[in-house]
Amino acid sequence: MTGINDLPLRDELRGQTPYGAPAPDVPVRLNVNENPYPLPEPLVRAMAERVREVAGGLNRYPDRDARELRAGLARYVTRATGHSVGARQVWAANGSNEVVQQVFQAFGGPGHRALGFEPSYTVHALIARNTGTQWISCMRDEGFGIDLRAARETLAEQRPHLVVITSPNNPTGAAVPAQAVREVYEAAQRARPCMVVVDEAYGEFSDQPSMVTLVEELPHLVVTRTMSKAFGAAGLRVGYLVADPGVVEAVQLVRLPYHLSSVTQALALAALEHSDILLTYVERLKDERRHVVRELTAIGYDVSPSDASFVQFGPFTDTRRAWQSMLDQGVLIRDSGVPQRLRASVGTPAENDAFLRAARTVWKETAAAGPR
Ligand code: PMP
Repeated sequence: MTGINDLPLRDELRGQTPYGAPAPDVPVRLNVNENPYPLPEPLVRAMAERVREVAGGLNRYPDRDARELRAGLARYVTRATGHSVGARQVWAANGSNEVVQQVFQAFGGPGHRALGFEPSYTVHALIARNTGTQWISCMRDEGFGIDLRAARETLAEQRPHLVVITSPNNPTGAAVPAQAVREVYEAAQRARPCMVVVDEAYGEFSDQPSMVTLVEELPHLVVTRTMSKAFGAAGLRVGYLVADPGVVEAVQLVRLPYHLSSVTQALALAALEHSDILLTYVERLKDERRHVVRELTAIGYDVSPSDASFVQFGPFTDTRRAWQSMLDQGVLIRDSGVPQRLRASVGTPAENDAFLRAARTVWKETAAAGPR
């Protein structure tokens, strides 16, 4: 058998490991920011019916341009943000990761640079690597906000072709204020015409208005969103962007023909028709998030402010040991590589109770081990 090392692999992929968190089978899984609530039964029935309807037509390719789905997403975004969005401003793909990849394929690539504010969602840097785009990291400040002075300097110096802002940020939790997004956007444009992507995967969990409201005013702004989190449909793989119609034309140049299956399009439309009930789960999760933040703080942890469906907490002198201790107690959370910090998704009340029990035990173990 030929091993990977014997293959004429791209140099930058040599020695790399695939993206992904460890996934041992334990009772409480709070490691990948999934929505803990299964889809409601009326939606499950509607989806089964839609699969029946489209199955007979699967000899044909899907709608290449996903027109009905994009119109449905535009209606949803309009309702959710109070800002009128049309189908020509929306593009959909298999998860918002694929949307971001298409944006990089259209606006990045060899000889191009993309800048992100880290720590953040590491897949953006991975997409840069995979598309041959040079990745530039601008460090966030101590509170994990964007350091605007450092941002202005780095943008002027590096002149990137693409900027990515994750808001609310993963793994740290807080949303980026609209004024900071504007300032980054303007500083980026001063250096060169530059696309600014705001990754709003957790947008529905934030009380801050969506940056979708700025897309007419800022023509190089691209807001990406997903059905994986608020809609509780991570397994469906549907993400989308809202931007100037020109951006939609640009990503259509690089998308693979028929990238979004007929089944996916039909099921996403069914989910959108049930958005009211699905969004009640978002409210429940926000309440649970407040509870988890309160309890972790009461234990003594330092908890980063969160506008998302997860919380980052610490400090731990040995994150690996704390993570393992949680796991030994049947609770899987995430070590996202932020020094001294771990991240846990907000789960059901029972899952959160189990998590908080484990967090209390870890606190005592750490205290017993000596000064923090
Ligand atoms: N952006 C961020 C910030 C995320 O945390 C995630 C998922 N963990 C994604 C995008 C990817 O979402 P999707 O399932 O839509 O590809």
